[in-house]
Formats: sequence, structure tokens, C-alpha cells
Amino acid sequence: MATASLSRLCIHTVTTKPLALPAAVSAYRHAGIAGITVWREALAALGVKESARILADSGLKVVSLCRGGFFPAPAKSDRQKALDDNRLAIDEARAIGAPLLVLVCGAVPGIPLPDARRHIADGIAAVLPHAAKLGVKLAVEPLHPMYADTRSAICTLAQANDIIEKLHSPLVGVTIDVYHLWWDDQLEAQIARAGRAKSIFSYHVCDWRSPTRDLLLDRALMGEGCIPLRQIRSWVENAGFDGMIEVEIFSTEFWRLNQLEFLERVKSAYLEHA
Ligand code: ZN
Repeated sequence: MATASLSRLCIHTVTTKPLALPAAVSAYRHAGIAGITVWREALAALGVKESARILADSGLKVVSLCRGGFFPAPAKSDRQKALDDNRLAIDEARAIGAPLLVLVCGAVPGIPLPDARRHIADGIAAVLPHAAKLGVKLAVEPLHPMYADTRSAICTLAQANDIIEKLHSPLVGVTIDVYHLWWDDQLEAQIARAGRAKSIFSYHVCDWRSPTRDLLLDRALMGEGCIPLRQIRSWVENAGFDGMIEVEIFSTEFWRLNQLEFLERVKSAYLEHA
């Protein structure tokens, strides 16, 4: 398998969650994968400094850090804590050489979604100066509406585009994740809109298994579900995106497998279907 054809493939550490960061880095390198997106949990075992050294020595392109966000909270003191944590995440992104922090923006049962969206916009605005100082970009990732209770009041790309339009900063853009957005009849138009704003910062792929057995931990490999991956990729690329294609799969089924063998399946699925 030619390495060149994998030059835009990036894997999220959570995709191979059983591998600790050094093992993941080594596995991705040996598999000829070009990029890595690091989940904050993966930094915990060795700490940020040592993790940063391993990543710097790896030759892998660090694409982003996942994830900041979770801005809404009923109490102001809790919203302040969220800001502190996001500033820390920005510090971590900078430390590991990630140019981008992805935001899962948050939601809280009982907070009306429009209010939660205001908390989110205010939260991003509050941490933006710190991101600017450190040269880290921020990407709003809309999540599927089934997560609107506790994970994200931003459920569509239109809502994400609205927020970043208001924030009006070249440092704030969107992450397009096919798992969350494939069903939306406005997707093509909203991708084009984000493209015109030069705000498509990252692109996440996997597939939607049908029937889905678990609403969080049953993402499928590309080609094993019903998402029109090539069509969405063509929209994203027509909108000007030429960055890495990031495989982000949470799956209790796949986490049970030998992760090196699973990585080969990810590569094949990426080449055939993504
Ligand atoms: Zn994602």
C-alpha cells in the first residue's frame, strides 16, 4: 500500500483507545499514517510535557487536540471554571504542537438551547484572546441532535456557522463530522457557506451503522454504514478544504480487537470509502 495515498489520513487517538499514546504513535508511524489528533485523555498518563516530546519525535503531523468546550452551566462560577479549563486546553494544544482545539460546545438539561448557545458564544469570545496569544485556532463541532441534552446545543452546521459569523475571527471555524451532520438537508449549502468564510478547519469521518446498537459507542468503519462519504467529501473539497481526513471512531466492538489489525482495516476503509 503506497504511503503517499495515506498522506491525508489522520487518526484520532480515541479510535485506538486501548493503545496508550506512545503505542499509538508508534503504530500510526509504522502503518504509514500521516497525522494524529490527540484526545486530552491520551495526554493524562505521561503528562503534557512528555507526551509533547513523543509527538515531536514521531514525525506525525499533530492535527488537533480534542476537546475543549462544555461552556453552558447554570451558575456563573461553573461557567468560569469552563473558561479556565478551555484556556488550559489551549495551553495543551500549543504544547503538543496542535494548531487547532476542537470544541464540543456543551449543553445542560434544563438550560434552554438558545440560552446554552449564548453561553457558548460568550465562552468562545472569552477564551479567544488566549487562543490568539498562543496561535491556536478553535473549531466548533456541531453534534447530532441526539446529544442536545448534555453534549452540544449546536446541532447543525447552520448553528455553528451562525455562531462563528457573529464571533467574526479568523481563529474560529468549524469541524465537519459526517457522523453528526450526514442527515441534514442543508448540509451542502452550509458547507459551501463555511467554505466562503474560509472556516472549515477540520473534517472527521466514520460511518453510521444501521441499526445503531449504541448512540455513543457504535460508530462504524467507513463503508459499513449509510453515510454518503464520498459525496460529503466532494462538498467539503469543493468548498476549498484540502486538509487531513480524520478517522474518529468510538466503538466498544472495535476497541476489543487487536488494535494493529484494526488499524489496517481503518486504512483500507479510508482508501476505499472515505
Ligand atoms: Zn468529530
